[in-house]
Amino acid sequence: MRPIETIGILGGGQLGRMLTLEAKRMGYRVVTLEPLPNSPCGQVADEQIVAAYDDLRAIGELGARADVVTYEFENIPLESVRALEAQGRLVRPSGDVLRVTQDRMLEKTFVRDLGCTVAPFAAVDSEGSLAAAIAAVGFPAVMKTARGGYDGKGQWVVRDPAQAREALVAARGAPLIFEAFVPFELEVSIICARGTDGTIVAFPVTENQHDHGVLATTIVPARVSAALAERARDTAERIGAALEIVGAFCIEYFVKDGDVYVNEIAPRVHNSGHYSLDATQISQYEAHVRAICDLPLVEPKLFEPAVMVNVLGTGTGDYLTGVADLLRDPDLKLHVYGKRNAALRRKMAHFTVLAPTLAEAFVKAERGRKLLSWTPASPAERAAVR
Ligand code: AMP
Repeated sequence: MRPIETIGILGGGQLGRMLTLEAKRMGYRVVTLEPLPNSPCGQVADEQIVAAYDDLRAIGELGARADVVTYEFENIPLESVRALEAQGRLVRPSGDVLRVTQDRMLEKTFVRDLGCTVAPFAAVDSEGSLAAAIAAVGFPAVMKTARGGYDGKGQWVVRDPAQAREALVAARGAPLIFEAFVPFELEVSIICARGTDGTIVAFPVTENQHDHGVLATTIVPARVSAALAERARDTAERIGAALEIVGAFCIEYFVKDGDVYVNEIAPRVHNSGHYSLDATQISQYEAHVRAICDLPLVEPKLFEPAVMVNVLGTGTGDYLTGVADLLRDPDLKLHVYGKRNAALRRKMAHFTVLAPTLAEAFVKAERGRKLLSWTPASPAERAAVR
């Protein structure tokens, strides 16, 4: 069989960008398909096909130009992946994985049926099913759109029937999952990579802190017991094996009473794994490339404790200032995504700090966070880039 030379990526965001940079380092060509021109990934890939994710002609073109196709986010139409598979193209992870993981009801049902711990949940798409869900699950609860949500979008925390009905109206008929609110102590995640032969390797369990549903900080390793970290790894391996994922994937958990509750499966590289570009000898991106290109997988090794800080837009400025001061710290690595519009909570960049102890990494991360701010461009500059 011809060796894999070109990787096709559905999606052109920062995950695709970092995946591309690592794939290029390893000698591959990369073609991305993304509707917005000059995307973070398109800027570094060999080629970008500018097209909608449901444009089957363009999707076919991506398949024709690549030896293996992967994706960097899961909200792409399943039909597009199915079309590629029907044309005999290699898609990793497969459409079967995408089908389960892009629908929260299918995903939670799959995980529950596997015997993993999940919060009680029920499907809601009408007043009738809402009443049944309230009776079965109770309050407080979180109502989420079953499909298409990310970074906390399409979610409502509800404490009584009136709030639940408001959420049902706000969802405008979109199918919902109604799940028990978990009063968690901690949110953690683990990234694994699984090869075609079933080998699974795992990155350290990380602790994740969010700001309005958007990841703000990842702490590595998570401050959990060895037993809990082991449980997180076992659960992830079971899910990866049962879904037959080929590639990197992330399982997000809530930690409560010494157990891990599965919140989400991401069948792709993940924001909570950015730190691996600097803190482990093999990054999640390299692990993904290895998995989808039939190369050996090796266990990641953490050099030192690390803290990853997401640099989010504020909607108040266009230029990241304070970078020169930030870069005076020799233990800090900055990654900028090449996005123009620093909208509120948009992921624009991140930095990772390594230190002998987490306590030292926290101090450096906090110092770094305070140094950065957004400065508005002049009206003339704004007109030039829009
Ligand atoms: P998700 O999009 O499902 O990852 O949810 C985004 C964030 O909302 C999570 O990281 C949690 O902080 C919070 N969240 C989601 N579901 C629940 C839940 N069932 N109980 C408590 N918090 C939740």
